[in-house]
Amino acid sequence: MHEIHEECGVFGVYGHKNENVALLTYYGLYALQHRGQESCGIAISNGCEFLLHKDIGLVHEVITEKIIDSMGPGSMAIGHVRYGTTGNSSRTNAQPLLVKHLKGSMAVVHNGNIVNAFQLRRTLEMNGAIFHTTSDTEVISYVITKERIRKPEIEDAVLTAMNVLEGAYSLILMTEDKLLAVRDKHGFRPLCYGMTSDGTYIIASESCALNAVDAHFIRDIRPGEIVVFDKNGVHSIDDNCSRAEEALCIFEYIYFARPDSVIDGCSVHQARLRAGAFLAQDHPVDADIVIGVPDSGIDGAIGYANACNIPYGIGFIKNKYVGRTFISPVQKMREELLKIKLNPVSATISGKRVILVDDSVVRGTTSARIVKLLRDAGAKEVHLRVTSPPFINPCYYGTDIDSRENLIACKYSVDEIARIIGVDSLGYLKVEHLPYLADGTGRKKYCTACFTGEYKTGIGDGINKNCFEI
Ligand code: SF4
Repeated sequence: MHEIHEECGVFGVYGHKNENVALLTYYGLYALQHRGQESCGIAISNGCEFLLHKDIGLVHEVITEKIIDSMGPGSMAIGHVRYGTTGNSSRTNAQPLLVKHLKGSMAVVHNGNIVNAFQLRRTLEMNGAIFHTTSDTEVISYVITKERIRKPEIEDAVLTAMNVLEGAYSLILMTEDKLLAVRDKHGFRPLCYGMTSDGTYIIASESCALNAVDAHFIRDIRPGEIVVFDKNGVHSIDDNCSRAEEALCIFEYIYFARPDSVIDGCSVHQARLRAGAFLAQDHPVDADIVIGVPDSGIDGAIGYANACNIPYGIGFIKNKYVGRTFISPVQKMREELLKIKLNPVSATISGKRVILVDDSVVRGTTSARIVKLLRDAGAKEVHLRVTSPPFINPCYYGTDIDSRENLIACKYSVDEIARIIGVDSLGYLKVEHLPYLADGTGRKKYCTACFTGEYKTGIGDGINKNCFEI
């Protein structure tokens, strides 16, 4: 139901002792599917070579039983789910990306966006580099491989490359004998690792993927850190830690991440409850019921309801089976067909003054349709409460919030937006509450640029989803 697409999810396995490392990766990627539904892929190392499979589609469509069986045994693997934020959605841009070079091969998966990718690529191309994809992940691979010519150990090459790469990157790299987990200096995107009971290390974008493969959480990778998994165990390279202000994307807590994940020590579910409670405090209204837009408005609705003693109710049933292949309706059928995806529960809504909680309003078109569904189901009043502040700036760090023209809050006041989407009142989360969402202390620093315009890096020239398309 969302106008913002997710970004990407990464997953890695090191030291697997059982037969089927591909199957373990498949389970991990399944738990990360919410982070990207355009394409996915998997690469395993069987000790002699890398085996790779990737394609357009969901995890269960691309990584079939036949593919898993054909990959055979291995001790290391990496996997990726993608929504393309730089580069189109072709199979070529799907990940993992495999790089073969004299100084050593590697496979890479990446979550985030490199803000200086455009300039780096142009410089590399002017020096003879040839690119096969239009994604910024290939730029990362090129920069690292170039460093490897002077620095044979992959971790040394990555450490130097981190001084060149600017922007958001949570990476997992697989070489012939090592796995590396790398998080950019600001820590825009999450990354953590854990271990299964048989001693296999698991690295994942979110802790929910560790839970999915029965691994216990060990810790988050720190902003700027490289964690190396090799025959000597696990060791951390922290030369680039604390060299920049931390800036985990606050929207991970509001929308991107799964509520059962814990990111940088803070529960996503708790953060959303807190956002709902802030809204109840700042935008109270007399009403009969609080409902949430599935999925990411639900926790906020519960938080709102708990804080103001108005009952929480199930306002919508979401059809779980509407996937990527759902045929997009022509404009005039759009309103009717929204009901296939999201159907209001009239027993909850009819004749009631409804507080509707959603995670964001982007263009306003989806919100307007949802409000109309509630009116048609007999809601007497609809009061929309939004668990994020208004979007007024593009995101350059791996989401597709890319143009001010498409952001309703850039063009209209709150009252005007309320009129456009047809609600009786509208209340957004206040910007000053953002630092308190995750742990309640307000001490941690986050990226809030799409709400505040305070970018933690330069924002690069010409970077957008299709900047490398010819
Ligand atoms: Fe997240 Fe917004 Fe920052 Fe992008 S600009 S990383 S969506 S907080």
